[in-house]
Amino acid sequence: MTAAPEVQPDIATRRAPEPELDPAGRGRAERYTVFAFVFVPLLALAAAVPFAWGWGLTLTDVLIAAVFYLVSGLGITVGYHRYFTHGSFKANRPLRIALGVAGSLAIQGSVVKWVADHRRHHKYADAEGDPHSPWRFGDDWRSVAKGLYYAHMAWLYLDEEKTSPKRFAPDLLKDKDIVRVDKWFVPIVAFSLFGPALIGGLVTMSWWGALTAFFWGGLVRVALLHHVTWSINSICHTIGEENFEVRDRSRNVWWLAIPSFGESWHNLHHADPTCARHGVLKGQVDISARVIWMFEKMGWASKVRWPNAERLAAKRVSP
Ligand SMILES: [Zn+2]
Ligand SMILES: [Zn+2]
Repeated sequence: MTAAPEVQPDIATRRAPEPELDPAGRGRAERYTVFAFVFVPLLALAAAVPFAWGWGLTLTDVLIAAVFYLVSGLGITVGYHRYFTHGSFKANRPLRIALGVAGSLAIQGSVVKWVADHRRHHKYADAEGDPHSPWRFGDDWRSVAKGLYYAHMAWLYLDEEKTSPKRFAPDLLKDKDIVRVDKWFVPIVAFSLFGPALIGGLVTMSWWGALTAFFWGGLVRVALLHHVTWSINSICHTIGEENFEVRDRSRNVWWLAIPSFGESWHNLHHADPTCARHGVLKGQVDISARVIWMFEKMGWASKVRWPNAERLAAKRVSP
């Protein structure tokens, strides 16, 4: 008769979990690069008003910028966020790849990095470990002002900590196509900036048309989308309505609903993170949810996690 093993086999073979932070951290070169990609479009945004005043704004530029805003914006909200981070629906392979590419066009980081950071945000929302909470420095107005700036953008280039993709996005690392999209991030960024110039140049058959399309459809559009997306991390964790019970300080902010394609119904999102629709109350416009509905009708998306009345009622704060 053999003696019982000292350690249960399933325990013996179970590996220790990956650490939450990548020990390599984020070096200066990476943080300076991000700094440039945050501030160059922001300078263009600041120059946009005098430029439009002096030289006017052509319909071609507006249309190119609008199409790129729509595709890259939905790439973030429907793709990076509701689909890749939270799995609020299943997508067929072409849609899965297209959403990864469309999200990359927003120049907010590659898909694996974005998803890993955002999953860590949900795990620790507004507590220690959250990569971007406006409350990290305290509750008095000075600390909140500093926290708002940090949560909005400064964490992108000041934080030396790096969320471990192995820990927070192992599902994406296992998918060869998604790893490829992640590796193509730099050429996709180049297309996002210079694609508008190419289109503007060809439509107007002029160098000037290429330059103005680069300015509006490349730089200004990227800056606008940056600051709308980042407002979800800053403004929607500071002010707004608490319609649903949450452990963090996420809030619903109505005036950001249209530009953010429904992402500013952020209080519901933290109350029910996998729900495909964030604007669940009467009159809460949610363009991303409508797009997911269209994908479902086309047969490209399935198993959509639409709002569940019982689940919502249980979390509703009495109005
Ligand atoms: Zn989320
Ligand atoms: Zn949040």
